Amino acid sequence: MILIMDHVAIIGAGVSGLTCGVVFAERGYRTAILAKETGQQTTSGAAAAIWFPYDAEPAERVIPWALETYKTLVELSNNSRTGVSIIELHQFSRAGEIQIPDWAIPLGAQPVIPNFPFVMSSEVETSLAVNSCFFRSGFSMRVPLTDTTIYLDYLAARFLKAGGAINTNVCFEKLEDVDRKFDLVINCAGIGARDLVQDRDLEPHRGQVAIVPRIENLSCAIVCDDAPLMYAIPRPNDCVFGGTNDLSNDLTSDPATTDRIVAECCRVLNIEKPTVLTERVGLRPFRKSGVRLERDQFSDGRTVIHNYGHGGAGFTLSWGCARDVLNLATL
Ligand SMILES: Cc1cc2nc3c(=O)[nH]c(=O)nc-3n(C[C@H](O)[C@H](O)[C@H](O)COP(=O)(O)OP(=O)(O)OC[C@H]3O[C@@H](n4cnc5c(N)ncnc54)[C@H](O)[C@@H]3O)c2cc1C
Repeated sequence: MILIMDHVAIIGAGVSGLTCGVVFAERGYRTAILAKETGQQTTSGAAAAIWFPYDAEPAERVIPWALETYKTLVELSNNSRTGVSIIELHQFSRAGEIQIPDWAIPLGAQPVIPNFPFVMSSEVETSLAVNSCFFRSGFSMRVPLTDTTIYLDYLAARFLKAGGAINTNVCFEKLEDVDRKFDLVINCAGIGARDLVQDRDLEPHRGQVAIVPRIENLSCAIVCDDAPLMYAIPRPNDCVFGGTNDLSNDLTSDPATTDRIVAECCRVLNIEKPTVLTERVGLRPFRKSGVRLERDQFSDGRTVIHNYGHGGAGFTLSWGCARDVLNLATL
């Protein structure tokens, strides 16, 4: 049976809501995004946002969504106005031998041997002499990088062009409060879903980053997920230094944490301390029982599709999840 759900409300204007908006509006659905905050003000605006399936569960659903998103982001990288580019990612471990994940091998992942001088691919030979002696092992692969300062606006513009509408400063206490004229409600509220649908499985994995000016000759992204979490991600106009991942609701930036992040990045990159342009804090919506992407029903019979709990991988999963939401809507 095909249900026609013409009037669609999407709650949330972060990367999940905006991507779902594009997918639905471009399929001809009358789609409105309703959200408290939009784009830069959301968690999505604080993200690094490099493609990598990090801090999201369960792997058997996350990896297919990530691979689907990878393909779309690679296509988008052909258009510089999207803010998507392709970058070489060097993923390191401090602790021991890093395993190249099975899914990364078809994407060209290669071991990198962190001895000194640093072994780099030909494209990044002129890169900084990264102090890779801090790391025990690593691998490299080319992945999409979305510059959030461009990409979130690009998604919003693409959604509006397809006929969608965005209403901000709208805050719902309960999802059922969404106007009944919408026969399909899509919940993309990120960490906000904790209160919106009383989901106690959601945990705020707080992340703080420091934005610094472009670092000369840093052309690849350097990431180490072992404590202390460290990443340096060069974007076209600046560079994101990270990071933290703590269980906390605190959205204020902590200057001591910024100092620690900058010091560790400078130690690894072997550079002088740069000026900090700004600090950002966001709450990664991590869900202990895994990303919630499922169809449900309100007591009044309307359909709701949940799409939240993407943890530290909201960009990485965005297109795969949005297309699955569409599949659920047309079941
Ligand atoms: C420091 C940091 C670095 C990160 N790095 C990466 C990375 O490199 N790669 C990657 O893929 N991911 C990364 N992430 C994770 C990524 O940012 C999140 O997974 C993603 O932003 C979640 O997007 P979302 O659209 O689901 O939620 P959000 O961006 O939080 O958007 C939620 C939306 O819902 C709205 N909303 C919430 N509650 C209500 C309500 N009651 N009523 C109305 N509206 C409501 C909000 O206003 C907002 O518009 C990072 C996160 C952080 C914090």
